[in-house]
Amino acid sequence: MIYLDNNATTRVLPEVLEAMLPYLREEYGNPSTGYPLGRRAKAAVDRAREQVAALIGAAPGEIVFTGCGTEADNTAIASALAAFPDRRHLVLSAVEHSAMVGFAKAVHPEVELTELPVDAGGRIDLDRFRAALRPDTALASVMWANNETGICQPVAEAAALAHEAGVLFHTDAVNAVGKVPVTIAGFDYLSLSGHKFHAPKGVGALFVREGAPFRPLLVGGGQEGGRRAGTEAVAQIVALGAAAEAAAVRLANDCQHETARLRDRLQAALSAALDGLHLNGDPAHRLPNTLHLSIDRVPAGDLLLLAAERGLAIASGSACSTGKREPSRIMKAMGHSDERALSSIRISLSSLNTEEEIDEAARTLIACIEKIRSLRPEGGPVVVAG
Ligand code: PLP
Repeated sequence: MIYLDNNATTRVLPEVLEAMLPYLREEYGNPSTGYPLGRRAKAAVDRAREQVAALIGAAPGEIVFTGCGTEADNTAIASALAAFPDRRHLVLSAVEHSAMVGFAKAVHPEVELTELPVDAGGRIDLDRFRAALRPDTALASVMWANNETGICQPVAEAAALAHEAGVLFHTDAVNAVGKVPVTIAGFDYLSLSGHKFHAPKGVGALFVREGAPFRPLLVGGGQEGGRRAGTEAVAQIVALGAAAEAAAVRLANDCQHETARLRDRLQAALSAALDGLHLNGDPAHRLPNTLHLSIDRVPAGDLLLLAAERGLAIASGSACSTGKREPSRIMKAMGHSDERALSSIRISLSSLNTEEEIDEAARTLIACIEKIRSLRPEGGPVVVAG
């Protein structure tokens, strides 16, 4: 299989697996215990905290380990709302992950949500962002990079505007960390998730600026300095630390430029062979690993199935919405028609992909697209397979 769905999840790196294995075998101590087995587990968690902090330029004490990116996102909202009981307004971009929008709507139905529109390129407008901030805004949140389109937002500028207005700022960097250099400059909260950058699933972290309000989502034991109850998942946390260190090395070596070269090679091969391809999102502001395309007369669901049969893993929409028939809300937020949304695919690389794989993927995709087009009447309606 050629795996080009790295915005959904990534392969665990061999060195990350090696780092975590002792903590599943002989080093099974509880970090809260005082004998050597427990103390070694605590030391491993402390080291991982340093590794994660170093990747984003934070202090170790500003990192709270969580069970996933979703929990980090939820915790940021819960913290801001708890800090300001008289502020019941949130500003989110219209393209945030459901971990943000869904939590706000389901858990805090009393809160008024302003969902900031994006332009055709997928980006927010900073003037509109500033205008949306109000004295009763508890938190503004704009994601670093969209999981579906790969479009990056002007988060540093947005954070500065939020602070001018006296509003806390969070960025969901789940799909940016490990793919591009990410720093915490100017943010109150930042979410990341291990499985998006070669750690296993089941571990994430929330950066909480020192002094920023915090409200634990899980209450019980005093783990994580009282910020997240529950016995630490030591092996996963160690893996997150190892993945952070590996990501720092990759980024220091500019590996993301090689990934972008391969992504562009794939895009060029498809464009040279096929008509009716449309790039979605502003190419000047996208992740180096992501290619988001709409393909005329090709239902994305059909293409995914055919490509999968031929050994190629790609996505339509975000992983969470794959299998649903509705057009992607991200594409709709960018002003695209249902037809264009339903014919959109996401191809997302990692630094593990090779040029041979990319050339093979291009040949497979071209063959699949030509086959689907040959079976469908010209201009027929797009019907997405579920
Ligand atoms: N935020 C973004 C941008 C994501 O892409 C995802 C995962 O798809 C999440 C949050 C949720 O992360 P997790 O799967 O670790 O809960």
